[in-house]
Amino acid sequence: MISSIIFTVLLLATAVIFARRIGEIRANINLGRDQDISDNKSERWKTMARVALGQSKMVTRPLAGFMHIFIYVGFVLINIEVLEILIDGIFGTHRLFYSVLGSEVYYTFIGIFEILALLVLIACVVFLVRRNIGKLKRFSGTEMTSWPKSDANIILIVEILLMLALFQMNAADSVLFMLNDTIVAAAGLDHYTEIRFDSWFWVSGFFTGYLPNDPTTLFYIERACWWFHILGIFGFLIYIPYSKHFHIFLAFPNTYYSRLEPAGEFNNLESVKKEVELMMDPNQDPFAAPAPAEGETTAPQRFGAKDVTDLSWKQLMDAYTCTECGRCTSECPANQTGKLLSPRKIMMDTRDRVEELGKHKRANGAEAKDGKALLNDYISPEELWACTTCNACVQACPVNINPLSIIVDLRRFLVMEESKAPNELNMMFTNVENNGAPWQFAQADRLNWKDE
Ligand code: SF4
Ligand code: SF4
Repeated sequence: MISSIIFTVLLLATAVIFARRIGEIRANINLGRDQDISDNKSERWKTMARVALGQSKMVTRPLAGFMHIFIYVGFVLINIEVLEILIDGIFGTHRLFYSVLGSEVYYTFIGIFEILALLVLIACVVFLVRRNIGKLKRFSGTEMTSWPKSDANIILIVEILLMLALFQMNAADSVLFMLNDTIVAAAGLDHYTEIRFDSWFWVSGFFTGYLPNDPTTLFYIERACWWFHILGIFGFLIYIPYSKHFHIFLAFPNTYYSRLEPAGEFNNLESVKKEVELMMDPNQDPFAAPAPAEGETTAPQRFGAKDVTDLSWKQLMDAYTCTECGRCTSECPANQTGKLLSPRKIMMDTRDRVEELGKHKRANGAEAKDGKALLNDYISPEELWACTTCNACVQACPVNINPLSIIVDLRRFLVMEESKAPNELNMMFTNVENNGAPWQFAQADRLNWKDE
């Protein structure tokens, strides 16, 4: 009874902390501009099924892809066993699904879960080795400071410990289930005599060798592992929304709202279009402040983006979905040729900045400004101008994140609001303005080449 109460209180506390953090992230994402992405629903469902559910972009790198699929499938299916643990914890039952499914089905299910748990364990060990001993290049970089590195290791280690606790819990239980009924009942564990198996569980059977035959000791070992396992899961749930592993939730909506237009197509800025329309309309007062667009309550949109509030909610959701895998950076030609640019850093900076601004607003009111901006305080013009707009990062991202759209919006601000384009571009702009072409030749000389 006491244990059920403690369990329920801990479960509720975890749910409250988790929900509070989700509320913060939601509010932070809503700091972004509104963007209507309600078109093409069937195409969007298909994209989500293919990319998030089917992990189609993960397997382009087979080792990481298949190991990730083990963790993903294991994580989803093992949750059925976690569901049983939750029900047992609340109602004080023990292996409730045994009485529902019957001995054979239950035994088979636990066996399958154990095989999945073993695959998760192997995948986590491989990932740990690759990160820390293999020193894969894409896991390094200026943005991969001690926190992102520890974040990845913490989750992998916790997952390994959780799987080991699961095996040990099942191992202790299966020994108990095979002991003589009279011995078990004599130890005051009558309810254990209701569950009987003929052999060890498929994987945890290998963890039984050093276990004693004393029912009381087995009971305490099982309870210790049970509590460790479930408290680890509660801790995991509280930790995940602060970690890059939040992608396990956001990968689905983020791929649903993927950009469906051709990769090379650029959007026209509504704010620029309005400005041009204003200039062309002789009835407009050229000195009047621009009116907010229909449905807009805030100041009119800037030309491009200076801070996270100028980006759309989808671009901010991208930032929270980033897994920091570095596939984008490893494919980036600018990064490969030693430039300062790393698309992963663009996403991490965007997330760090929106977190910072969100915290500031929660503490000081929705209108409060902190005097900082994404541009310059986090991302430098040098990084932005190194981008070739090739889209390789977008193509490589396993969860359809678009770092290029943020780069382009920040560059648009530099050019259109601050006139801070690099000299080479300024020359090209002047040529387009004067000559109708990017080159330094007058229009009249265009056909001179035929006389050569
Ligand atoms: S679009 Fe820019 S950031 Fe992305 S891979 Fe190409 S050069 Fe790198
Ligand atoms: S943007 Fe995509 S590819 Fe790049 S680090 Fe994030 S998840 Fe990986």
